[in-house]
Parts: sequence; structure tokens; C-alpha cells
Amino acid sequence: MTNPQHTDIAIIGGGPAGLQAALTAGRVRREATLFDDGTYRNATVSHMHNVLTHDGTPPADFRAAARAELTAYDTVSVREQRVARVERDGAGFRLTLTSGETMTAYAVVLATGVRDELPPVPGLQEVWGDLAAQCPFCHGFEFAGQRIGILGAAAAPHLSALLGPVAGELLVLDEDQDLPEGATLAVPRVAARVTAVERHDGGLRLALDDGSSEDVAVLFVVPTLHQSAPFADQLGLERNPSGAVRIDEFGRTSVPGVLAGGDLAHLPAYPMPMASVVQASAAGQIAGNSAIAHLLTRD
Ligand SMILES: Cc1cc2nc3c(=O)[nH]c(=O)nc-3n(C[C@H](O)[C@H](O)[C@H](O)COP(=O)(O)OP(=O)(O)OC[C@H]3O[C@@H](n4cnc5c(N)ncnc54)[C@H](O)[C@@H]3O)c2cc1C
Repeated sequence: MTNPQHTDIAIIGGGPAGLQAALTAGRVRREATLFDDGTYRNATVSHMHNVLTHDGTPPADFRAAARAELTAYDTVSVREQRVARVERDGAGFRLTLTSGETMTAYAVVLATGVRDELPPVPGLQEVWGDLAAQCPFCHGFEFAGQRIGILGAAAAPHLSALLGPVAGELLVLDEDQDLPEGATLAVPRVAARVTAVERHDGGLRLALDDGSSEDVAVLFVVPTLHQSAPFADQLGLERNPSGAVRIDEFGRTSVPGVLAGGDLAHLPAYPMPMASVVQASAAGQIAGNSAIAHLLTRD
């Protein structure tokens, strides 16, 4: 009989990384429990893009389809619960849920993603994922030929180079930031700060601190990324300079038996997480494979 307080693989996260890790475990009939507390990075996005065969699919539909597929696998369970703590427990791990319940696991896949801290501009949070975004691959094409704003001079050379072929016109709002050393920019710049963002005529009106305003179709911003969950700290995992969990090519963290994939982790060769649904799914598959490889060392 299965012990209800034990799972061979605990997968924390029900975004593309965790869902794919669960599918991978199910394919070879490994017992896995996926925990999902319902806080997805792309929660405010109505249609995701740059996802082959799902270009334009609502992220919620994508997750629902993945959940439906998982029901075919009798060794995989999904629990809509929040994990509060992960710690080592002998050769394995102990999870404590916010309900107080505990569960042991031989391997843990961390797929908890990141939380975006936006620049503190009033109104920005309300349009995040809709008329404000961070990734030209996800969000630019729908605004082709229109006036596109970039908030902050520091990221403007990179973003304007990517958005150049998309935008009809680009505008950089400096936000008191300097261009990176040695960089030049052949794009109009506004030295004032943005004090508020509001919807206007299908796009955005940006109020500036000199009393004027600028209208754009969409605004690109650079959020600060934070780990969504405390498990990297609790387990003492090594980090990259970006703050993300350091993994190797097999999704292994610095603690044997703890795998990671998706936005919370990346290879040291990368400057930051390669954040996308496809990349997260691929990383979840690798982490799932490595969790099984870890079990094989115990079988
Ligand atoms: C505005 C915006 C638009 C985007 N648009 C696109 C796009 O068009 N195309 C694209 O490819 N990518 C897009 N992305 C990026 C994409 O959303 C991420 O790369 C992807 O969601 C990462 O997947 P993940 O599985 O790592 O994390 P997430 O999808 O964020 O999932 C994290 C999971 O962990 C769970 N979790 C966290 N903590 C706990 C806990 N303590 N206990 C239990 N569960 C927990 C959450 O509930 C959630 O299920 C966008 C991102 C943003 C911010």
C-alpha cells in the first residue's frame, strides 16, 4: 500500500516546468506529487506567444490541458497546496505544507519560478502582462508598427535593438538612468521621470514629472526578479550572480537529490534565467529525468 505521507519525487510548482517534470515521472510510472499554490508568473497574461503549436493560447488553458494530460498517469498526484518548508531528512527530504502536514520525498524538483518586482510607477501593476511587459519575444509583435516605450535608459540599447524591426517608433523614458558605458542610442529619449501610467485610447498615457505626457501602445520595463519561494535559502543551494539557483546541464543543484528547472534557475553560463514557457518545459523535463536518475541510485 502507498504511504500517504511519502512521495518518491516531490515537484513544487505547477507552471510549465513543474507540469513537464510530472509528466516525465508519469511516463515511467514513478510516484510523484506536484504542489501548486496557484501563483503563476504569467497570471495576468491573456495570450502567450513564442510557444510552438500554442502561439496565442491563454496560459490558463495551457496549464489546464497539461493537468488533464496528467490524469492519465496513475503514479502522479497534483495537490493545490502551498509548501512552506523543505529540509533534508536522512537520505531524503521532508516537506512541510502551510496546512502543517508533512511529507517525505527521495528527490525534490524545484519549479517555483520567480516574482517580478516592477518599478514603483503608479498604474504599472494594473497593466502588467497586457500593455506593459518585459520580453519582446513574448509581447512585441502584437504592437508592430506602433509607438513603443522603453522605461529606463540602462536597458534601452538592448531592448531598442530587439524592438527596432517591430516598432513604428521607439521612445526611451530615461528614469534618471545612464546608458551602459560606451553605449549609444539612435532613439529619442525623454529625460523626465514617469509618475503615472494609465490606459488611454487602447494604449497607455504616461504622465511625466515635468507636467507633460507621452502616449505609447505598449511599455517595456525591466523588473527585478525574486525567488517566489524560500526553498533555495532553506536548503542552502548555491546561486548564480543573478540570484537564481545554480544548476548544471542536468538540472542538478548543489544539493544531491534537489533538481531545479524553469525561471528560478539557470546554468552559470547564462546571465539570467532564459524565461519562456518552452525553456521552462524543457528544463522541467531535464529536472524530471534527473530526479528519476537520483532514484535509480537508491533502487
Ligand atoms: C508579463 C509576462 C509575460 C510573459 N509572456 C510569455 C509568453 O508570451 N511566452 C512565453 O514563452 N513566456 C512568457 N513569459 C514567461 C513565462 O511566464 C515564464 O518563463 C514561465 O511561466 C516560467 O515557468 P515556471 O514553471 O518556471 O514558473 P511559473 O509558471 O511561474 O510557475 C511557478 C509555480 O510554482 C508554484 N509555487 C511557487 N511557490 C510555491 C510554494 N511555496 N508552494 C507550492 N507551489 C508554489 C506556483 O503556484 C506556480 O504553480 C511571460 C512572463 C511575464 C512576466
